Amino acid sequence: MNKGNLKRIFYLARTTLPYLKPAKVRNLLLCELEIRRRTVQQASMPYVSLVDVTDVCNLRCPYCPTGRNQDSGRPVRVIPLDIMRRFLDEMAPHLVSINLFNWGEPFIHPHIAEIVSMCHQRNLCVTISSNLSVAFTKRILATCEAGLDYLIVSLSGIRQETYARYHKGGHLDRVIANTKAIVEWRKRLGRSRPFIEWKYLLFKHNTGEVQACEALADGLGVDIFRVKTGGGPEEVCVGDDQDPAASNCPELWRMAVLSADGGIPGCCYLYWKHDDFGEMWERTVAQVRGGERFVQGRRLFNPEESSLLPPNLDHPCLKCYRVHNQPHLKRFLTENSRAKEGHRTGAPYPYPKRENGP
Ligand code: SF4
Repeated sequence: MNKGNLKRIFYLARTTLPYLKPAKVRNLLLCELEIRRRTVQQASMPYVSLVDVTDVCNLRCPYCPTGRNQDSGRPVRVIPLDIMRRFLDEMAPHLVSINLFNWGEPFIHPHIAEIVSMCHQRNLCVTISSNLSVAFTKRILATCEAGLDYLIVSLSGIRQETYARYHKGGHLDRVIANTKAIVEWRKRLGRSRPFIEWKYLLFKHNTGEVQACEALADGLGVDIFRVKTGGGPEEVCVGDDQDPAASNCPELWRMAVLSADGGIPGCCYLYWKHDDFGEMWERTVAQVRGGERFVQGRRLFNPEESSLLPPNLDHPCLKCYRVHNQPHLKRFLTENSRAKEGHRTGAPYPYPKRENGP
């Protein structure tokens, strides 16, 4: 494990520990036990959440479905506050932390500070991941003021030319100026939060700028500098960002995901509307999580119960490498047509494009 990842674990523990209350710890332990046992009918509730406050983005990163302008089929792309409130009213008693990002740029949401405040008031540890290449410095500082605990900043170079090869349409000077503004704001108010992490996405074209970028981060007062392998086609990648040894899917138990349109996917990787496991508009999160798609998803990972699955099962998890890593499913997968569909965020190709852009 490299220095950046170790430091990150330390900071994440420091960020989260104050939010661990006895009832939440009990739920967390039960949830982890159920993951180990691969319990199909989950009795615990997820203790981590990921809410995609918007799937609109200002950049055109080529290996992100939003950046490629793929149409996910979601009719609403900026989460309405009433859906957010309903989700929190139900889930906050169980959750330790909440991540307010997935497929878009969170600072585009005009009420992001209000959303962070809603989470903070409910005693949740709040994280945002952003490209920070936005001209909303006031909104960013209002979000910090509202109780943001941890900010991940994604970038990929120290020269504008290198940076914009992946972060297409982005402005490195804005990333730096916004980082400076947050660090100065923290200093002025004597605060330590939000902790700031610069996440350097590594590709073949930017390996030579890692050290200089780390030095810049240190000079600016960034808390953690971490290098992460970027995903994409073989010719640009330096490695695989998936864990080939993944033998289970903790997300099916541990993580409550909500999309901007109120859809509930099984995990943060499932992109398409038609792959959702349920809807916040129609049912509670608990009802969706006890429903057929979640039960069948967990059943795929349970060797004793997988024989109960119909051979022609049509389920989004069938196109995930984690399911394909299950030795007990080998025969089942060769006979199931959905299992031949490919990647969980990719197919079908050519990608359907949004008519008016993101
Ligand atoms: S698609 Fe993969 S990661 Fe997502 S819930 Fe299904 S098995 Fe888990």
